[in-house]
Amino acid sequence: MGKIIIIGGGISGLCSAYYLVKEGHQVTVIDRGGISGGTSFINAGYITPSHFMSIAAPGMITKGLKWMFDSTSPLYIKPRLEIDFIKWAWLFKKSATSKRVAASVGILKELNLKSRDLYDQMFASSDFDFHYERKGLLMVYTSHKGEEEERALANRAVNEGLEVKCLNKEDLKITQPGFSDDVLGAVHYECDGHITPDQFMVNLKKWLIEKGADFQLHQEVVDVVASGNKITEVKTDKDSYLCSDVVLAAGSWTFSLAKKLGIYIPIQGGKGYSMDVKRETYISLPAILTEAKVAVTPMNGFTRFAGTMEFSGNNNYIRKERVNAIADAVHKYYNNLEINREERNSALSGLRPVSPDGLPYIGKTSKYNNLTIASGHAMMGFSLGPITGKLVQELISAEKPSVNLTPLDPERFK
Ligand SMILES: Cc1cc2nc3c(=O)[nH]c(=O)nc-3n(C[C@H](O)[C@H](O)[C@H](O)COP(=O)(O)OP(=O)(O)OC[C@H]3O[C@@H](n4cnc5c(N)ncnc54)[C@H](O)[C@@H]3O)c2cc1C
Repeated sequence: MGKIIIIGGGISGLCSAYYLVKEGHQVTVIDRGGISGGTSFINAGYITPSHFMSIAAPGMITKGLKWMFDSTSPLYIKPRLEIDFIKWAWLFKKSATSKRVAASVGILKELNLKSRDLYDQMFASSDFDFHYERKGLLMVYTSHKGEEEERALANRAVNEGLEVKCLNKEDLKITQPGFSDDVLGAVHYECDGHITPDQFMVNLKKWLIEKGADFQLHQEVVDVVASGNKITEVKTDKDSYLCSDVVLAAGSWTFSLAKKLGIYIPIQGGKGYSMDVKRETYISLPAILTEAKVAVTPMNGFTRFAGTMEFSGNNNYIRKERVNAIADAVHKYYNNLEINREERNSALSGLRPVSPDGLPYIGKTSKYNNLTIASGHAMMGFSLGPITGKLVQELISAEKPSVNLTPLDPERFK
């Protein structure tokens, strides 16, 4: 067996390495950072069969345009005249139809459920230690409009066969004490789970090193050398590496690397922020504060508050007004819970790799038959980490993929 180079050590890259190493492959992970922070570390850690509706939903563009000049809104698009962004936005608008959203429900649900099963298996295997719980996710609302929307979605979820319970104000107070009187109720997606992502990433990387995976860190992949339709070498700013196969899992930077290789894989970085509160919050159940679009997760020893979707290019600039919008919303939903100045100042940002139709890109490309793409997972990259890794391993081992990969074709926007 030859050497497989994985470009990018986020959740998609590390889970690909996990399943490839288990199959006996030799793996090198190259990352321009140290795999010690970034999107796959700072996210909300939800494992989400509940997220069966694509982000490319009708009305999103209108909402984005309406909120364009409000930098505290949950969705913010920084006005800019960049051709790649304009093309992406046009493709997003084309994808955001009821028909296409309905068509993607089945595949998103299947990917999420299969990935959750793989998390169960990983946890049971004790290969490495990580915090993982299956307590579900509360979709909490404070308005009658919110209630109407969440209940409609819950009915849809029940029809999809997911375990869902509707809770009124009194039921919710028993299930999760601490919500304020403004909260009218919630939908409890009992099918969901949650994880502490930073711990998962650190311990998976450690396990991979113990199993002989090679890590080349603080090196940026800049190009490849090809012979016919095969990549033979991956070049970084420091070195070059011979390879038998390449996995491109560079998150929001996949677009620019693929472009260099002559492959069009549209992705925009959707920035989000999170901050950790390391004192007692008495929050035991993950929740999404739906009107504010804020995610709350009780993690291993702290509570994480995350949110916002900002399209302003691939940068990690922190907009204070957006961090404050997340922190201020928490006070409305929970009794006696204020996120203080120091906690707000500790906020970090990450970039979700968002495809125009809200579906990931998993598959081989026509240009190079030894290149596999694993990217574009948007808000579900952590949830879909294991199934992505499994599919990458199946593709490289020429096994029948456990999911129909046609809707995830990396060249579907060619
Ligand atoms: C605030 C927030 C909350 C979220 N909550 C959730 C959640 O609850 N559940 C969920 O499932 N998902 C969630 N997500 C989304 C999830 O975090 C992402 O989809 C996922 O982490 C993307 O993983 P990735 O491996 O594809 O990319 P990344 O984690 O971005 O990893 C890509 C890696 O590639 C490296 N790289 C890039 N270019 C190069 C290059 N040229 N050379 C070498 N290395 C390179 C980068 O350094 C990086 O380490 C959230 C995201 C945010 C921002």
